[in-house]
Amino acid sequence: MSTLRFHAIKESLAYKPVVIEEKERRSDLFGKNVFNENAMRQYLTKDAFIGVMSAVQYGKKIDRVIADQVASSMKDWALSKGVTHYTHWFQPLTGATAEKHDAFFETVSEGMAIEKFGGSQLVQQEPDASSFPSGGIRNTFEARGYTAWDPTSPAFIYGTTLCIPTIFVAYTGEALDYKTPLLRALHAVDDAATEVCRYFDKNVKKVTSSLGWEQEYFLIDKALAVSRPDIALTGRTLLGHSAAKGQQLDDHYFGSIPNRALNFMRDLETECMLLGIPVKTRHNEVAPNQFEVAPIFEEANLAVDHNSLLMDIMGRVASRHNFKVLLHEKPFAGINGSGKHNNWSLSTDTGVNLLAPGKTPMSNLQFLTFFINTIKAVHQHEALLRAAIASASNDHRLGANEAPPAIISVFIGEQLTKVLEELEGVTKGKLSPQEKTELKLNVVGKIPDVLLDNTDRNRTSPFAFTGNKFEFRAVGSMANCGNPMTVLNTIVAKQLKDFKVEVDILIDKKGLKKDEAVFNVLREYIKSTKDILFEGNGYGKEWEDEAKRRGLSNNKTTPEALKARVSEQTIKLFEEMNVMSKIETKARYEIEIEAYSMHIQIESRVLGDIARNHIVPTAVKYQNVLIENVRGLKEIFDKKFDAVSKEQVKLIEEISNHIEGINANVTKMIDERRKANTMEDIEKRAVAYCNKVKTLFGDIRYHCDKLELLVDDELWPLTKYRELLFTR
Ligand code: ADP
Ligand code: MG
Repeated sequence: MSTLRFHAIKESLAYKPVVIEEKERRSDLFGKNVFNENAMRQYLTKDAFIGVMSAVQYGKKIDRVIADQVASSMKDWALSKGVTHYTHWFQPLTGATAEKHDAFFETVSEGMAIEKFGGSQLVQQEPDASSFPSGGIRNTFEARGYTAWDPTSPAFIYGTTLCIPTIFVAYTGEALDYKTPLLRALHAVDDAATEVCRYFDKNVKKVTSSLGWEQEYFLIDKALAVSRPDIALTGRTLLGHSAAKGQQLDDHYFGSIPNRALNFMRDLETECMLLGIPVKTRHNEVAPNQFEVAPIFEEANLAVDHNSLLMDIMGRVASRHNFKVLLHEKPFAGINGSGKHNNWSLSTDTGVNLLAPGKTPMSNLQFLTFFINTIKAVHQHEALLRAAIASASNDHRLGANEAPPAIISVFIGEQLTKVLEELEGVTKGKLSPQEKTELKLNVVGKIPDVLLDNTDRNRTSPFAFTGNKFEFRAVGSMANCGNPMTVLNTIVAKQLKDFKVEVDILIDKKGLKKDEAVFNVLREYIKSTKDILFEGNGYGKEWEDEAKRRGLSNNKTTPEALKARVSEQTIKLFEEMNVMSKIETKARYEIEIEAYSMHIQIESRVLGDIARNHIVPTAVKYQNVLIENVRGLKEIFDKKFDAVSKEQVKLIEEISNHIEGINANVTKMIDERRKANTMEDIEKRAVAYCNKVKTLFGDIRYHCDKLELLVDDELWPLTKYRELLFTR
């Protein structure tokens, strides 16, 4: 092992950067490998083009004849670009993307062959799905699942394969992926938001949810990364003493990007351009070797696909530059972890961002309506939102120094807080003409110019309003955005639906004018949602106590947090909004809670193995060197022996203590793991892994990290933090 560490360091030092030259303009590259509107206009018949566009815009069904035409044109387009295979590309609940390639090639009679791709192959496929997680759905119902074309996300070419974005459902129709519920949620929010928009503008026919994600990641030299079994198997370091220098100097953040990383980014961005992923921003992050990439926001379904695709290609591109990308939320102790801010908003087909203040009092009232309804939705479903971002890896980040706390709250900024205070004073029932004028001129009319300064500077709020969008910051860097986006859009849809009912009652039964009714309902919402608003930085006991008083949940671990996924309220919500059936909701919970246990189980095994088989033997080896030394000293010195060997003897003893600490805790951990594994109840098992197994990681690590400081560097088998983090 020790040779592996030094071999890896040698290899990484000898690495010669692959220089990336950009010959073509990015705007020329953009979307070249996507069967987008442009390509469709060129390749599709008029009927087929209209068919696909109305499916994209209005969710209309595509019939078989049209599907055949589309498939045939897609094939021609793909063949013209040297493509040989096609695949249904989907996002199963494993968190990775999945694909199974088939060749276009088919034999026909008499030894001849052709390239073939028909509507039926485009529209539906039956992958062998038995090894994707299904949370019991497939056991209970049918052994098969199938993938079905999602025309709202365009097909693309990766390598020599035509990839067709699809949903993945059980034979009985239950969703087995992230995309299916997301599409249903987007449909729900479209319906509900369009209805509400029509109070303000009768021309609105569709509301689209948009997402702009900001992906954080670490880039580690590949040779160094593979020399660490913990990084290779769990994506993070399970032990390792902090480097003498960490991020305290803040010299990495927004500093110049190291050359080798820059070449990786250029290469990645070129791939993104070809695939139509509109990446725009790149910069260093706070921790050493940590970076961020962010695109221009897109329609949420497409943005989710693009993020999944990005995470996949990042790994492949990194390999070309001898890097390993770490998407884990907390790969290194003691320095910042990685998140994935989800910037979210709603906009109309008339081009209005519903979460941006407008130019007139009426458009501002519309803005306030969506703004306040979102706050209300978050307040009502804060526990579910927390559950939507829960994972074993994100647990390390939430509540750590740099990250949002595990308590969900909403930051809105000083100016909007004032606006809400004023609206809270609106008269009950009918408003006098003076009050209306006053509201229009001085409250609702005044929003645009006050907003400019509205940013959450400490950036720790889990859900912050940032001028023209909400930023859901607690999402983990490894997560599929489909999950949080499904929840957010569903809760907002439900809230808007309820809002419409309340406003209509005031109009129909109490004879209020439309804007009076809106003001009246918003006033009550402002009063009842104050507890979710929080402008502080969210660390420490003080906020935890305060949050408790306010009735907000504070679920620090995944097993605790996930309960909200199957609460009565959640099941009803998803059923009512036609996003997930009770079976689907429960299945997802099962998958997530089982994934949690498996995750901790793997980490625990790897940690036990490294501690016992790598660290302890190394410590013993070094201890023997010391013992030899002490023996020698005894031979040479007679009377002075005690004085000259004092430090060595102390070291020998210290090493023994740490070895004992490791062994005792590893034994205990294995024991607890064994107990957990015998538990039939998946919830109890997850809790045992969380509270009995995982809790021993810290003690084991403590002793290992102490030994790292004591043992001769030459002997130490594991690549150290300073080597992992400061090799460029
Ligand atoms: P930062 O949060 O780092 O300051 P920005 O606020 O400029 O960066 O933007 C972050 C992300 O928010 C980008 O992906 C951007 O495209 C996205 N974004 C901007 N406006 C919207 C919107 N209306 N809806 C969704 N995302 C948006
Ligand atoms: Mg941001």
